[in-house]
Order: sequence, then C-alpha cells, then structure tokens
Amino acid sequence: MKLRTLVFLNALAVGVSIGAVNLYFQHKWFYFAVSLVIATIVSYFVFYYLIEKYVYSKIKVIYKMIHSLKLGKDLKDALAEYVSPDPINDVQQEVKEWARDKKHEIDELKKQEKFRREFLSNISHEFKTPIFAIEGYVEALQDGALQDPELAQSFLNKVSSNVERLSVLIKDLNEISRLESGELPINLQKFELTALIKEVMESLELKAEKYKIKLVFKEKYDVPTWVKADKEKIRQVLINLIDNSFKYGKENGTTFITVFALHDQYLVEITDDGMGINEEHLPRLFERFYRTDSSRSRQIGGSGLGLAIVKHIVEAHHQTINVRSTEKLGSTFGFTLEKAKEGGLNIPMITTDVD
Ligand code: ADP
Repeated sequence: MKLRTLVFLNALAVGVSIGAVNLYFQHKWFYFAVSLVIATIVSYFVFYYLIEKYVYSKIKVIYKMIHSLKLGKDLKDALAEYVSPDPINDVQQEVKEWARDKKHEIDELKKQEKFRREFLSNISHEFKTPIFAIEGYVEALQDGALQDPELAQSFLNKVSSNVERLSVLIKDLNEISRLESGELPINLQKFELTALIKEVMESLELKAEKYKIKLVFKEKYDVPTWVKADKEKIRQVLINLIDNSFKYGKENGTTFITVFALHDQYLVEITDDGMGINEEHLPRLFERFYRTDSSRSRQIGGSGLGLAIVKHIVEAHHQTINVRSTEKLGSTFGFTLEKAKEGGLNIPMITTDVD
C-alpha cells in the first residue's frame, strides 16, 4: 500500500471518530460532516509530516544502503543514486534477498573453513607419520642398533623409504596446489593415445616386475586413436592409476589397460584384480588424502593425493572419471578423453586455463 493511502486511511479513521463523538453530543449531521472533514484533513497532514520525517526518510536511507551494497560500488556509480518510489515494500524484498545471499555466502565460507581445517590436519598427519618413523629408527641406531650391521641396514632402509614418502608427499602437494592455482595450465594438443599408453607402460615395466604384476594393454583398434588433450598431464593420470593398480593389486595379478571408442570420446580403463574397494568408500575416493581402511592399515600407498590429482586433471579437460570396484575382486578406473581428427602429430591446438 502506498504511503499516501495509508496516511489517508488513518486520518479518515480519526476524522470519523471525532465526527461520531460530535454527532453523539450535538445530534446534528452537519457537525458530524464538518468535524469529519476538518479532522481528516488536519490528521492527514500531521500524520504525513510525522511519518515522512521520522519513519519514511529513515527507511529510504536503509533502502539506499542495502541497494548500493547489493549492487556493489561500480554498479552503484554507474546507476547513480537510486530511490525507489515505494521503499517500504522494496526494502522488505531487498532485505529478504540480501539475507538469502548472505546466508549462502556464509555457508560457503564455513564450508571452505572446514575444508581448510581438515586439509591442514590431514597434511600434518601425513607428515607426522614418516617423521616419527624416521625419528624412531634414528634413535634406535643411536642407541646401539649400529652394532648389528644387519639390523642397522634394515633400519636405514626404513629411514630411506620414509624419506622417499616425504618427498613424494611434497612433490604431490606442490603439483596439486599448482594445478589448482592455475599455474599449470592445460595445453591441449593432438596426440596418439595408444602410443602414449605404450610409453607409460614401458616406463613402469620395472615397477611392475617389482610388484610381480603383469601389465597388459588390450589393444582393440588397429587405427590410430587421436585425442585432444594435454599429453604430459594425461601421462601423469595414467602413471597414477597404473601405479595404484600395482600398490593395491595382488602378487602375480594382472593390470589391464583398455581403450574404448565412444561417439566423440575415448574411454581409457585401468583394471586390476587386487584388493578392490568397499562400496562405502567409492563416493569419497577422489578427495585429497582419502584412503580406505585396508590401505591405511597396510601402510602402503603414497601421498593420498594421487587420485585427487587425477580427478583435477581429467575435469580440467572437461572430461569425466569414474570407478567401479568389488572388494577382494579388483577395481576399474576409467576416464574419457576428447577425440581429435586424424592428422599431424603434436600440434599445439588451444591453451586453456585450469578452472
Ligand atoms: P595413495 O597415495 O594413498 O595411493 P590415492 O589418491 O592414489 O592415494 O588413492 C586413494 C586411496 O584409494 C588409496 O589409499 C586406496 O585406499 C584407494 N585406491 C586407489 N586405487 C586403488 C586400487 N586400484 N585398488 C584399491 N584401492 C585403491
């Protein structure tokens, strides 16, 4: 309702009341009419003046403040001072919207804060474990284990593997933070996928032997599989996934790599016949530092960031990654890549930043 209408109704109510009192005492409709008109007019101006001075002008200031806060400085300057013709109604609407936006903002900040806290506690936990282990072995060596060369050697090996773990952790942390900050942009180029898979398999041959795992590439196509992606980052994805298939695979097991042609994508799958993953873990598997209980208790694994890096790289290509797994039977990790038209090798195409 407009301010004028509101004031008029109030004034009318006063006018009618005074008119009614007059009619009661004077018994003349003339007095009723005169007092009604005069009281209504006087009340109208008095009310209007008071409301405008003490309520409306203040609401207008509040409205202007909220309006400019919502618009931000630049837009406010562009639109200059804006005064709503009906600030009482608008202020209600704007406050509602403003409160909703602020709530959303606060929820988002709380989420980020929780994430930061968890991240810090995870990092300190990840560092603590190998550092405590190193401390323990060094103390044992200082306390006399050095006298027994065999024991000393085994302790030194353990120190060395923990140092290695720390260095992997720092390397992966550095990698993920550079990926997320956009420092490592995605350089899309055209390359042949099967050739890259073979290169990666060759580079991991020794490691496969160490874990006693057979690495098999199920080549389905004899035509070249051209993709449009960042070759080095996809190499990293393949290494991380194949490496996991070794770590969580079984002795004398097999890791299969398969490429499927979809409509305008290729799907690469890495399948192992290892320990598998319980269904309850699957939704959180790609989170940083998330590990299943069995891999925790076996004290294997690297930084806990491998899959988070993989997911980040695949999503920065606007592609998808998924996992299927059955405990004690094995797991399959699959990710897609965009097909490219056949043609020359390694021609840089487009460069995009990581989201
Ligand atoms: P990590 O450095 O611990 O290997 P990742 O991010 O690569 O970190 O993997 C996260 C967790 O996912 C692992 O700790 C493990 O519990 C589980 N995982 C990953 N790959 C496999 C796999 N192929 N089979 C079973 N579990 C796996």
